[in-house]
Amino acid sequence: MPLINSNQLLDKNYDVVVVGLGAVGSATLYQLAKRGLSVVGIDQFDPPHTLGSSHGETRITRLAVGEGKDYVALAVRSHQIWKEIESFGSEQLYHPVGGVLMDSGISPWEKHGTKSFLDQTISFAEEFQIDHRIESGNQTQNRFPHLLLEPSGKSYQESATGYLFPEKCIAAQLDLASKYGADILKNTKVKSVEPAANGCKVQLEDRSIFSKRVVLTAGGWIKDFLPKEKGNKFKICRQVLHWLEIDSQNKEWKKSPVFMWGFGPQPEDFIYGFPSLDGISVKMASESFVETSHPDLLIREVGEKEQQDFWNEKVAGRFKGLTGKFIKSSVCFYTVTEDGRFIIEPLSDFPSVLMASACSGHGFKHSAALGENLAQQICGEELTCPLI
Ligand SMILES: Cc1cc2nc3c(=O)[nH]c(=O)nc-3n(C[C@H](O)[C@H](O)[C@H](O)COP(=O)(O)OP(=O)(O)OC[C@H]3O[C@@H](n4cnc5c(N)ncnc54)[C@H](O)[C@@H]3O)c2cc1C
Repeated sequence: MPLINSNQLLDKNYDVVVVGLGAVGSATLYQLAKRGLSVVGIDQFDPPHTLGSSHGETRITRLAVGEGKDYVALAVRSHQIWKEIESFGSEQLYHPVGGVLMDSGISPWEKHGTKSFLDQTISFAEEFQIDHRIESGNQTQNRFPHLLLEPSGKSYQESATGYLFPEKCIAAQLDLASKYGADILKNTKVKSVEPAANGCKVQLEDRSIFSKRVVLTAGGWIKDFLPKEKGNKFKICRQVLHWLEIDSQNKEWKKSPVFMWGFGPQPEDFIYGFPSLDGISVKMASESFVETSHPDLLIREVGEKEQQDFWNEKVAGRFKGLTGKFIKSSVCFYTVTEDGRFIIEPLSDFPSVLMASACSGHGFKHSAALGENLAQQICGEELTCPLI
């Protein structure tokens, strides 16, 4: 991928600067470059990297997303874009291995701002005619013997659900953006974005870049670009991913669907995971909504006690075919809003800047279509997937 250093930018006036090249920024840069705009994407690190919200090998994608009706079209459109990118010669990004959303049936539970998440998922699947099946706890366990769903439980199974490779999605879109002529500036922190005569001044450590518009896709660091009061609405929540060893005799984990499982009333009474990709381990995680004030202040280490607590509170008694050994763990973070919705809007006091953030723990699957949506907004095109 041709990179530039910031000295080469001196004489350029861009149509758009994209600040942050994670899931949403890389998609936006690709979509803008494809439309022939003169663009530069800037990231403080070397994306795809392990310090934002888009790393850790896999992300779940599903179509009947209980988080909101308008997000269903976004998920459908993203699947089309991932396929399109694959057709340009990238590695396989989207793996439709099927998915099962399980409810222990013990008490209703909420997810990403949606009460009765399972019911909402089922109702969207029916409304949008998304291929699915609903089974009781016993039927689910017969079909997937490694998932010990209680007899009181129920599951929603969707054939288009699967996983994406987030790092590969980001790399592929940056690569395509670059092929369409985008400049990419890595390991460069944007200090501020300010109004200028013809649009925006993007301030780096040692120089400024000028553009007509800026798209801010800085993930959790969006707080750095907003007045404190507004920034405080974005909660940074540390998440931990664990890779657990599977029993060498086990046959089920390699052909497992992706799963999500709500087993109690609290948002943390939840576990999700993936099939075994290496035949040795499976990746699983829960969700945490404990706030850390800023991404730079996250504790990145994971101790043995934390792993043991995860095992005792979330894993034990729910799965077959695991040895109890942790192969590795990794830290990531969510940027969450009160209602779990994305925030995509021009800055109120500086409308040349369009921001997109707070994907609230469910944004990766939508990121390809969000990039398209942002590019369409910049270009004044009709939106393929308008958001409420
Ligand atoms: C553990 C975990 C599991 C998840 N699972 C799923 C899932 O299964 N399915 C799903 O759909 N979603 C999932 N999500 C959510 C999804 O991954 C995120 O919503 C999405 O990746 C966020 O992308 P982003 O582009 O907003 O942020 P990021 O990918 O973090 O990108 C922001 C970028 O901006 C850069 N940046 C910030 N400030 C500056 C600056 N001043 N100058 C230059 N660059 C800057 C950063 O370096 C970073 O690269 C999960 C998230 C986590 C953490």
